[in-house]
Amino acid sequence: MQTPIKNLLPGATLGVLGGGQLGRMFVHCAQRMGYQTAVLDPDPQSPAGLVSHHHIVTNYSDPQGLRELIHLCDAVTTEFENVPALALEELAAHLPVNPSAFAVSIAQDRIREKKHFTDCNVPVAPYGVITNQHELDTIADALIPGILKTARLGYDGKGQIRVKNISELKPAWLELRGELVDGHFMPCVLEKLMPLEFECSIVLARNALGHIVHLPPQRNIHREGILALTQVHAGSLPSALVPQIIEFASTVASQLEYVGVLCVEFFVLKNSNNEFSLVVNEIAPRPHNSGHYSVEACDVSQFELQVRCLANLPLTQPRQLCPALMLNLLGDLWLDPNSGPGQNVWREPNWPAILALPGVHLNLYGKKEPRRLRKMGHITLTGRDTDSIYETLNQITEILSLPVFARP
Ligand code: ATP
Ligand code: MG
Repeated sequence: MQTPIKNLLPGATLGVLGGGQLGRMFVHCAQRMGYQTAVLDPDPQSPAGLVSHHHIVTNYSDPQGLRELIHLCDAVTTEFENVPALALEELAAHLPVNPSAFAVSIAQDRIREKKHFTDCNVPVAPYGVITNQHELDTIADALIPGILKTARLGYDGKGQIRVKNISELKPAWLELRGELVDGHFMPCVLEKLMPLEFECSIVLARNALGHIVHLPPQRNIHREGILALTQVHAGSLPSALVPQIIEFASTVASQLEYVGVLCVEFFVLKNSNNEFSLVVNEIAPRPHNSGHYSVEACDVSQFELQVRCLANLPLTQPRQLCPALMLNLLGDLWLDPNSGPGQNVWREPNWPAILALPGVHLNLYGKKEPRRLRKMGHITLTGRDTDSIYETLNQITEILSLPVFARP
């Protein structure tokens, strides 16, 4: 049972399940608006736990930890989708929680998520479900080359294996299905590899009355299955696509009776007439890496939308104030180029050189230990015009020895 949501004014305590960078930025924003915050995360050094008024250091299904959160908070949200749905249900029996356990459970499971998209008449990439040997043996050849993905618990390209031909499918499945748990292997989805023109996403917020506002949709460049750069400026997306992105995302949210911040990721394809079309990839029931630019480049950020939804405050349509780029900073950038093969010597990137450039907003998440492909922070670039932000981006990629990014 969902507890009815009341207006929570500044001074109230907002809780978040999960202590990663998204939780940290939520906490920063909630505190700026005068709220108290509580984070539940098992890691004593979690990025959000380090900056929150309260940090409950325990796992997500610890009954004592959940009781403590209920005691401290006036409402609770989540910053990652892999929280146990039961924890959200338990919290929702005592205080307002959004997004709902139901919505999160859909986003947690690629199979149910894809069914939801299909029910909403939003196109998805061709796919097949593999839960057992028989389904493996009878999967359609037309899905290969494809990407085998675990139905649950994937993130940042983890839990995925590209399958170039049929002989690669079985070993990939044996690897991803994992150990038998309660008589079942991890269900997997084989998705056809789509010829992507590019990728994009949109962050929206929907309140309990069904009112929807959204950030401008953004174009995303991935490297190694991880978001590398987000581009949000005039010409970053073909203008004909924008109303369709908004409509598809709004339908996906409304049909879930979603309350909170939702990100919808899309693939963009091009047909033989050179027209673009959209295929939905997945949803995230929370703010998203691709929406980080909104903190510095919009009058209302995705985290403020999350606070407003949770506190049941009015939603206003965010406006973008200037062109923006968002560059992810992965742990690889901390690796000393002079360290020999097999030797991992870490050092701090040359921040002073980067901060000497105009329109640079450095965001670091306070993670002590850099690791390859670990998201350590991001840089938002803002400027008066598109040329100037790309000029700065090129200087940054040179300083960081990153490959140059193509401009749309
Ligand atoms: P995240 O949670 O970080 O968004 P994820 O691990 O859930 O990522 P996906 O979004 O499913 O993974 O895939 C990551 C990236 O891999 C996509 O953004 C896209 O670049 C590529 N990709 C995934 N599925 C396909 C596909 N069917 N065809 C082509 N490319 C794909
Ligand atoms: Mg994704």
